[in-house]
Amino acid sequence: MSGCIFCRIVAGEIPAEIVAREPEVIAFLDVQPLADGHVLVVPRAHVARVEELAPAAADALFRAVLRLAGPVREALGAAGTTIGVNNGDATGQTIPHVHVHIVPRWEGDGAGSVHTIFPRHVKRKLPEVGAAIRKTLG
Ligand SMILES: [Zn+2]
Repeated sequence: MSGCIFCRIVAGEIPAEIVAREPEVIAFLDVQPLADGHVLVVPRAHVARVEELAPAAADALFRAVLRLAGPVREALGAAGTTIGVNNGDATGQTIPHVHVHIVPRWEGDGAGSVHTIFPRHVKRKLPEVGAAIRKTLG
């Protein structure tokens, strides 16, 4: 995808502050960081959504997240990290190339948990939702 900014970073056409290069994954600093040390972990292959990742690419992506989370936290002297994926246009995913955010966190940093981004528009009972998902899984 020549128009994709992450593919262009992967190809070396656009500079980035790269922190890890692996055969199937690269990780670099977000150019509009939410906090110091805000890292994006990106599969080299252009895939828009998590569910479109090939199993091996998914393994490589989340193994890279696993490998990076501790060192990113330690390097910044953070207390923890928030790790998240915006998956699809409606979620606020602005670049349609899968990327995992690792954002260092500190006590009292003023940011909330993942729960704070949802206004809790829950309308259906858990068993009904569970049955719908199990039926779709097959
Ligand atoms: Zn791409």
